[in-house]
Amino acid sequence: TTTTPDIFETRESAVRGYSRSWPATFAKAQGPRQWDEDGNEYLDFFSGAGALNYGHNNPVVMNPLIEYLQSGAVLHSLDMKTPAKREFLETFEELILAPRGLDYTVMFPGPTGTNTVEAALKLARKVTGRQHVLSFTNAFHGMTLGSLSVTGNSMKREGAGIPLTNSSKIPYDDYFDGETPDFLWLEKVLEDSGSGVDKPAAIIVETVQGEGGVRAARAEWLRELSALCRKHEILLIVDDVQAGCGRTGTFFSFEEAGIEPDIVCLSKSISGSGLPMALTLFRPELDAWEPGEHNGTFRGNNPAFVTATAALKTFWADNAFQNELADTIARLHQRLDRIASMAEGATVRGRGLLAGLLFDDPAVAGKVAAQAYVNGLLIETSGPRDEVVKIMPPLTISDTDLDAGLDILEAAVLEIAP
Ligand code: PMP
Repeated sequence: TTTTPDIFETRESAVRGYSRSWPATFAKAQGPRQWDEDGNEYLDFFSGAGALNYGHNNPVVMNPLIEYLQSGAVLHSLDMKTPAKREFLETFEELILAPRGLDYTVMFPGPTGTNTVEAALKLARKVTGRQHVLSFTNAFHGMTLGSLSVTGNSMKREGAGIPLTNSSKIPYDDYFDGETPDFLWLEKVLEDSGSGVDKPAAIIVETVQGEGGVRAARAEWLRELSALCRKHEILLIVDDVQAGCGRTGTFFSFEEAGIEPDIVCLSKSISGSGLPMALTLFRPELDAWEPGEHNGTFRGNNPAFVTATAALKTFWADNAFQNELADTIARLHQRLDRIASMAEGATVRGRGLLAGLLFDDPAVAGKVAAQAYVNGLLIETSGPRDEVVKIMPPLTISDTDLDAGLDILEAAVLEIAP
């Protein structure tokens, strides 16, 4: 059903991105599926860029939400105490922090991913008294000015129209072609006061760069990075906004490497439902905030606390979900390896269900995604040249639905890049 004139064309800003890749108007969704207004069905292997790890409208989060909305409980409460927030904090401590031996203070920085990154950057600067922050080539940390300054993608940064200060980009793990990683070169620069590189307050890193082209850092490289930070008293911030909440197979994406960041940014799937929510976690001794020093109107999204608590209780109370997830991850990567071996110039990238197919010819990735859309599969491209087809099904997807989506992907790949 397209109305004439189309209000999306006449009234909405040209900045729209996803709606250009997928011109349908989506009206319904369930699990890994979406339907447009005309009833056409699509498998969703994008999952709200990682905001829908448990699928759309999962009854395990929707039923408590409906009950909450009908109960007359508080919806909006700034950062006041509410039972919904208490239950979330208790559940997060009991099911996520305690079993992993992690002691983090929890802060609600605002509703979205970029809010948690801003809070992390501010806190690191405040605690250390230093201003410089290092981030990585192809990093993505958000679109507000602080997050943007540590984002690698230059097209997105140029949108700000000004050079952003106090951050430098250093090469991510993929620049080292699998060589034994070390940070000696960086140590030399940091120890040389004449190098012109100010000692940073923090280094911010994604363990898998989602927007930057599905680049996964090696566990060893992350451990070296963490050791460097410890040695030089630089705070390590892991931006787990996209790779966190189970996407790579463990709740936090850094668990595999066995590192403990000083600050962790979570958003996207932490609410479990697609409702906006973000957390900034930090070592308790870093809690240097004065009351009210970092605030925001929408930090206390009670409906999001309700769905977040339900998701944690359903999926993270024991190891059952994580074990099933390991099988799904293995199934996906086996199939992706096969698809890549059949195609011209294709390589598999990523970790867990944050996976991608890199094409030597960047134009191919866009054509594959477009062909997949025609056949009812939503997949996006990422990377500085949009050269990677990003594959992010919900973590809860059944084998049958996973295979069905991958059949569409395989057919698209074979048609475009045989
Ligand atoms: N950090 C990472 C790693 C992300 O992938 C994103 C979003 N793609 C953000 C931060 C920003 O999150 P938001 O769009 O919710 O502000």
